[in-house]
Amino acid sequence: MLLGILFTTILFIARSAVAITGGLLASSKTQFGRARRIYRIDISESQMWAEFSTIIKIIPFYSVMVAIGYALNLIRYSDFSWSGTFLTFAILFLWNETWFYFFHRLEHTPKFIKLHATHHRSKVTSPLTVSAFSFGEQTAHLLLALSIPALLSHFVPITFAGVVVYSVPMIIFNILGHMNVEVYPSWFTSTLIGQFFVTPTYHALHHSRIKGHYGLLTTIPDRLFGSYFEDYYLVQSRAASGNGLTSLSERLSVAQARLPQNSFS
Ligand SMILES: [Zn+2]
Ligand SMILES: [Zn+2]
Repeated sequence: MLLGILFTTILFIARSAVAITGGLLASSKTQFGRARRIYRIDISESQMWAEFSTIIKIIPFYSVMVAIGYALNLIRYSDFSWSGTFLTFAILFLWNETWFYFFHRLEHTPKFIKLHATHHRSKVTSPLTVSAFSFGEQTAHLLLALSIPALLSHFVPITFAGVVVYSVPMIIFNILGHMNVEVYPSWFTSTLIGQFFVTPTYHALHHSRIKGHYGLLTTIPDRLFGSYFEDYYLVQSRAASGNGLTSLSERLSVAQARLPQNSFS
C-alpha cells in the first residue's frame, strides 16, 4: 500500500508540474497567449510565489489522499463495459456540476469564505491558481467528489475507464480556466455548445468579481440560480479578439450590445 501511495504521489506531482509549466509557458510566452489575455493586467511576482508555495504543499497532500482512497477501495470498480463507462461519465458529470455549484456558493458566504480564501488570493489567475487550495478546502472537495460515486458503485457499474474519460478533460478545462487566456473563438458563446459549456473567461470573471459564476463546467446552475454575469459573452468575445479587459472593475454594457446594429442614428 505504501509503495502504491508513493507511486501515485510521484505520478501526480510529475503530471501537475508538466501541466502547470506548460500552462505558464503557453499563457505568458506565446503570441497567442499574450494577445488573448482576458485581463490585460500583469500578475505580480509575489502572487506567483504565494501560489507556488501553496501548491508545493497541496499537491503531495492531495495525491496521498487520492492514493489512500484507492487503497481503501472507496469506489468499487466494475469490469469494463461501454454502458458502465457511459453511466460512470454521466454520474460524475451530473454530480460534480451539482455539488460544486452549491458548495462553492456556500464558500462565498461570510461563514465559509475563510476555507476558500487561499484560492481567491488571485484576482487575475495564472495556471498555478488551479491547485492553490487550503488543506481544509481540498479535503472537503475530495470527500464531496467521492461521496456519491463511492456510494453508487455498490449498486450500479462504475468503471475506471469512465473515471478517466471524465477526469482527463476535466483537468484540462480546469487549467484552461485559470490561464487568463481565452482560447475559444469570439463567436463561441453564441453557439448552443458555447452557451452550455464555460470558457476560460467564465471562471476568470469569478476570480475578478467574486460574487457570481460559481459553476464548474457548465453555465446552467448559474443561469438557473441567478449568479450569471450578463456581460460575460461580451467579455469573452473581446478577449478572443485580442481586446481583453484592462481593469478588474470593468463591466460591459449589455443593453447597448443588444441594440439593433442597422440603425442610422
Ligand atoms: Zn470562488
Ligand atoms: Zn478558480
